[in-house]
Amino acid sequence: ERVVATEEYENEIDVQKNLRPKRLREYIGQESLKEKMEIFIEAAKRRGSCIDHVLLYGPPGLGKTTLAGVIANEMGVNLKITSGPILDKAGDLAAILTSLEENDILFIDEIHRLNTSVEEILYPAMEDGELDIIIGKGPSARSIRIELPPFTLIGATTRAGLLSSPLRDRFGVVHRMDYYKEDELEDIVKRGGHILGVEVEESGAREIALRSRGTPRIANRLLKRVRDYSEIKGNGIISGEIAIRALNILGVDSSGLDDLDRDILTSIIENYGGGPVGVETLSLMLGEDRRTIEEVYEPYLVKIGYIKRTSRGRMVTEKAYEHFKCKE
Ligand code: ADP
Repeated sequence: ERVVATEEYENEIDVQKNLRPKRLREYIGQESLKEKMEIFIEAAKRRGSCIDHVLLYGPPGLGKTTLAGVIANEMGVNLKITSGPILDKAGDLAAILTSLEENDILFIDEIHRLNTSVEEILYPAMEDGELDIIIGKGPSARSIRIELPPFTLIGATTRAGLLSSPLRDRFGVVHRMDYYKEDELEDIVKRGGHILGVEVEESGAREIALRSRGTPRIANRLLKRVRDYSEIKGNGIISGEIAIRALNILGVDSSGLDDLDRDILTSIIENYGGGPVGVETLSLMLGEDRRTIEEVYEPYLVKIGYIKRTSRGRMVTEKAYEHFKCKE
């Protein structure tokens, strides 16, 4: 089980549901985004219409799906969730679109992974609220047009650059989700503790927040692991000391790095003298999916200044060397 993993685990889904904020006021951090959304939601409600299509991009676990749910709740409409790789055929998307009710929200995760044929259905749907579908095959095939009720598409992607430009241009709001600040993560941990019914001391919340890579999903996941540890090895209360001990056992270090982060850094240092090295080489060397390295691990290593992206490849920085030295 990897701490940085992007997926939810089966047995965690129920807990996860409770941890997900339902209202804008419960949604911690992302102040500028919340401010914008509050205005859009209010304006749309007054007009009795839906909000413009929204594209959210940024690393996994920052609250994109959660925000879609929050907007749906605030608007009092239904939310349908799907994802790019699941929508295999144009008909799959057509079925979802025709099931939407007025002002509903359709959330498409990993929207950069849509098939071209599916993406083409989306353009007229987003722009004119129309669905053009072909019925039948060969000479008897004919195209029919269906009017869709007004709806909002919320698309999520790890990088806006991965989207085709005709698709990107059809979003009225494009927002980059930032990593969360430490005090916001602390609040998320405290909120999580409250929901899970576990006492979290100030110092415990801080330790977990510090090692959560700016990511609420990881903060909640670490909280659950530390809770397990404190129930078995401590008195059930999450203090700073308990959190440090538990997180060390989990292999999450003081910068929030896990085993794969450390492997990425040490292999660049040991095999390439600190770089530059291409991501393809790294992926082969570590036997790890290139996308995972590029979209999950690397953004955080770049953010904390441990890796620099150059035109010739990735380079490990002085700061990363210092981090390893301190640990010895
Ligand atoms: P994404 O869709 O960006 O991958 P999610 O919306 O699934 O991320 O968020 C992951 C988890 O992190 C959620 O289940 C929720 O518990 C927590 N979370 C995300 N954003 C927030 C937030 N702003 N405040 C509190 N908890 C959050």
